[in-house]
Amino acid sequence: MKLFLRNVSGEPFCNSKEGIEMTDIEEKRDIKSLTLPQLQEQVKQFSEPAYRAKQLYEWMHRKLAADYEEMTNLPKAFREKCREHFTYTALTAVKVQESRIDGTKKFLFALPDGNLVESVWMRYKHGNSVCISSQAGCRMGCRFCASTLNGWERNLLPSEMLDQIYAITRLTGERVSNVVVMGTGEPLDNYENLLRFLLLLTDENGLHISQRNVTVSTCGIVPGIRRLAEERLQITLALSLHAATDEKRRSLMPIAEKYSLDELMDACTYYFEKTGRRITFEYSLADGVNDTKEDAEELTALIKPLNCHVNLIPINPVKERNFRQSDRRAVDGFKNKLEKNGINVTIRREMGRDIDGACGQLRRSHMIKQAE
Ligand code: SAH
Repeated sequence: MKLFLRNVSGEPFCNSKEGIEMTDIEEKRDIKSLTLPQLQEQVKQFSEPAYRAKQLYEWMHRKLAADYEEMTNLPKAFREKCREHFTYTALTAVKVQESRIDGTKKFLFALPDGNLVESVWMRYKHGNSVCISSQAGCRMGCRFCASTLNGWERNLLPSEMLDQIYAITRLTGERVSNVVVMGTGEPLDNYENLLRFLLLLTDENGLHISQRNVTVSTCGIVPGIRRLAEERLQITLALSLHAATDEKRRSLMPIAEKYSLDELMDACTYYFEKTGRRITFEYSLADGVNDTKEDAEELTALIKPLNCHVNLIPINPVKERNFRQSDRRAVDGFKNKLEKNGINVTIRREMGRDIDGACGQLRRSHMIKQAE
């Protein structure tokens, strides 16, 4: 099914000339993944007044109803008809951990089919930020990452990405202003659903989160980056670099076997040209692996021509992997070297250190316990 995404006023949401192909959705069965115009079409087929579509949409995407039951101003018969024709995704919170250091909360959610995803809620001065997962599991195989240890289960639906934000908003009672797609999964490996999710998340009839407050992080799927550039969205693209030579990057990230750094840098340049948005490079520092002065020099040479920003992350040790975190001196030294070379750089503040932050760790430890 090809869909041309348009917002309510009929403007194209994005520049995808071919339209958006929906994947992994039983067609039109997942009600929370439908756009308002699609919902209006459905409501018409039910011979209901047109305004019902907007009421329903608002219940789902603004009032964040967990079920049709809550939609009290909709006639019962209409709600029953919806229940009959559509699935309504919902998450169950299996575990919530709260950091005593900074109030960061980590949520482990169960999807209706029993798959688990984790999401993180962080409070910053400029507002609350949620980090969501885009897939159950991951097939990218990065050597330092816990999310990939159990492999890939399935793509998340647009609604299931939204649900993480909706459930957290309900549970915390606080508005979310920033969203980062940096949890488990590779968002550009679930492209169509990601795009639909972005449309719904930023829609003025939903939570209406500004595109500029959304970051999508990728391990570097080059055709996906180029395709995303064509959409001309105002989101931030974060690129997980972690090494500045092909050889070193290949030893850390299997995706680097497929796309060279040259191709990757070209794609990043293209993204900037098309969107005007500065790229963020993520660089996780592992002791003795990628944290030396030479590494910093090589990184400078690689990214200097680009309009970019570097986010340094002291690597989060994962039990099954033998990477150690670079010490404070090495991290500061690396940062200073980049700064001296004129590169814009920050060190990512470690949030929720006491509730074990590394990607996919909560999900994995829970799955191991379940298997025992
Ligand atoms: N698949 C996407 C998004 C998920 S990972 C991507 O690769 O970007 C989010 C970020 O955390 C990536 O930069 C990833 O490389 C990094 N990451 C994963 N495991 C980590 C660990 N143990 N320590 C530090 N960073 C890690």
